[in-house]
Amino acid sequence: MAGTTRWFPDGMPQPLSDKETLPWWEAASRHELTVQRCDACGHMRLPPAPVCGECQSFDLHLTQLSGRGEVYTYTIVHRPIAMDQQVPFVIAVIELEGAPGVRMISNLVDIAPEEVAIGLPVEVAWEDMSDDLTIPRFRRADG
Ligand SMILES: [Zn+2]
Repeated sequence: MAGTTRWFPDGMPQPLSDKETLPWWEAASRHELTVQRCDACGHMRLPPAPVCGECQSFDLHLTQLSGRGEVYTYTIVHRPIAMDQQVPFVIAVIELEGAPGVRMISNLVDIAPEEVAIGLPVEVAWEDMSDDLTIPRFRRADG
């Protein structure tokens, strides 16, 4: 895919979608970061589920977020998962702006591991792995 930044090599374990999560992955392919929101009670969650965990409503839909957030916690990985993977790399739990209490596990990219800190402002950085799979990574937010 021309012009796409790649941070991770092919051959890495890749997420699988199912009936509940496919719309979320389709939004990701359009570079839209979303969470599932319950129309009945307002509860937000990831990953998407068939029923609201708070009020058991089936009235759920995806709502788009800003793509910004902050590092809730993180770890630095020093052993590669795939043969040609660069190490160390950072796995972080991101607290998402606009979705209180919803946290997402992803990678931090374009940052030295020693510069990562809890509370660091970040923004989504889309990685198009293939025509069918786009993964939201995160990078340091400007300002
Ligand atoms: Zn609900």
